Amino acid sequence: MDIASELKYFALSQGLVAIGSAPVAAYSGAPRGHRPEEFLPGAKTVITFSYRMNQAAIKHLPQTRGQYMMEFNTVNQLLSQAGHKMTRLLEEKGYPSLAISPEAAIGDYPRLKADFSHKHSAVLCGLGQFGLNNLLLTPKYGPGVRLGSVFTTAEITLDTSPIDGNLCDNCGKCVDICPAGALNNYQESYSIQTGRPIDKEKCSHYKFAVHNGNRCGMCIKACLERFL
Ligand code: SF4
Ligand code: SF4
Repeated sequence: MDIASELKYFALSQGLVAIGSAPVAAYSGAPRGHRPEEFLPGAKTVITFSYRMNQAAIKHLPQTRGQYMMEFNTVNQLLSQAGHKMTRLLEEKGYPSLAISPEAAIGDYPRLKADFSHKHSAVLCGLGQFGLNNLLLTPKYGPGVRLGSVFTTAEITLDTSPIDGNLCDNCGKCVDICPAGALNNYQESYSIQTGRPIDKEKCSHYKFAVHNGNRCGMCIKACLERFL
């Protein structure tokens, strides 16, 4: 079995719902300090993969905020384990590789920016498109997935199915539901390939000031209903 087939088989065995790849050169537009080869010299490929969150915990927000946090943290752990095992599989074949945490940069006030954007990578790897809520929308599960990535020195191509049309229909429900006003404005700079700026300060402040650091998730809930 070649490496690409082995990785797809591995992804299925871990319950991942999608996996794709892109050459490191595709990330040349990323800001300095956030490019794959700065973390793993000699990196040639980025692999990004997704795991679906169970839907009721999102659908019944805000009542289910505790259950949503459990879902969020459990899925992050599963993605971390999948990334760790994928890295081990690649290292044992002689390819230095590095798993990137699925945890977002919550509370990282100096930057409010993770080491690496799994969402931008997921678009480059063919897993989905940005919605107006600046989340990754996937064809089957909409915004109800979380993401992990692996950088590797192996050259790997993991094909994905093309996505027809725009997954975001510009309904504006995510903007309207945001209790912090973090999604206002910027709509004109939105694209399905690169997303849009959101007011991260407002979003983060809301999480800490109102929900003790627990995630809000209302922009996921508003959008997920379209995909159920
Ligand atoms: S998580 Fe909540 S506060 Fe943050 S952008 Fe989404 S709806 Fe707004
Ligand atoms: S809620 Fe509507 S506007 Fe917002 S991302 Fe989803 S489809 Fe797009």
